[in-house]
Amino acid sequence: MATEVENGPEITQILGQWYDANQRSLPWRETTNPYFIWLSEIILQQTRVDQGTPYYLRFIKNYPKVEDLATAQQDDVLKLWQGLGYYSRARNLHFTANYISNDLHGQFPSSYAELIKLKGIGKYTASAIASIAFNEPVATVDGNVVRVVSRLFAISEDVTTKNAIIKIESITSSLLNPLDPGKHNQAVMEFGATHCTPVNPSCLECPLNTHCQAFKLKVVSSIPLKSKKIKRKTRYFHYLVVHTPDSSYLLHQRTNKDIWNGLYQFPLIESENDAELNDQHLKQFLKSNSIGIQKVNRVRKHVLSHQDIHARFYHLQIGEQIHESFKLVAASQIGEYPLPRLIDRYLEEHDVKTGNAALNA
Ligand code: SF4
Repeated sequence: MATEVENGPEITQILGQWYDANQRSLPWRETTNPYFIWLSEIILQQTRVDQGTPYYLRFIKNYPKVEDLATAQQDDVLKLWQGLGYYSRARNLHFTANYISNDLHGQFPSSYAELIKLKGIGKYTASAIASIAFNEPVATVDGNVVRVVSRLFAISEDVTTKNAIIKIESITSSLLNPLDPGKHNQAVMEFGATHCTPVNPSCLECPLNTHCQAFKLKVVSSIPLKSKKIKRKTRYFHYLVVHTPDSSYLLHQRTNKDIWNGLYQFPLIESENDAELNDQHLKQFLKSNSIGIQKVNRVRKHVLSHQDIHARFYHLQIGEQIHESFKLVAASQIGEYPLPRLIDRYLEEHDVKTGNAALNA
């Protein structure tokens, strides 16, 4: 439901003019193809534009139609996604491409009500696709919109509360330009991304500063308020870099509901603390008596959005048959598998992909 807001039509008009003059030239702005819009919106969630753009271009080149994405192998989709994080986005893209291609016979849903039923598509993505690709008058609310609207109307309560979300959604709907909802939605998001930024927004040169309540009240820096603190988790990973004399390595695919689901890594033991594992522990885990630790690398910290991973890498050589839950992969082929960035970086630093592993590095 939309709330009538003071100076709403003027604010909408100024945002449209600002967008005409200041929008960045981005590849997904040159199309109204719903499949491309969908790809760009999913890629850009939790990802900066400069980081996401090359991924978008690679996806539309490798999978120019939704059917191409649907028939791809999941490993290939994850490989293309490698480095972007939040891999459930890639798995959901693949799942939904299959659904559209098979169950909907390639017909992309064309309304907000239909789009929101798809796996991996929430309110934000459904409204973005519906308005940009199909001109449906639905307002889009992302973090940038929350910041712009909460400042313009000096909403000082915690913007993660239900009450504040309802208020912001309602104001955003009221500001929507029904004649060009796709452009309007992009204008508010772009304004938040490049002008009304989280830190040091350009208030003095802002075309909206005469309408902005937070500016008038001098409370810009304290809005939007987010009181919920993200809880961080510390985890201790012990990776077993097990190789054969002919430079093949053991890999294992992550399949549980956890980070990096579907990606490949070295056999992993997770522990409660940072203490180094001993020979016995590793032999038991690998069900082998013929392993010898060649080197243990120092702990490296890998920071994710909600987790700090402390990873230790143990280099081991194994001579006998391997445990069946692992895959033996030639060093030169490891790079073809989708890998967490932590593993990929380790492989590069230690020259593993070429088979010249610098074990003493
Ligand atoms: S005056 Fe400042 S806080 Fe208000 S909309 Fe403009 S940039 Fe944002």
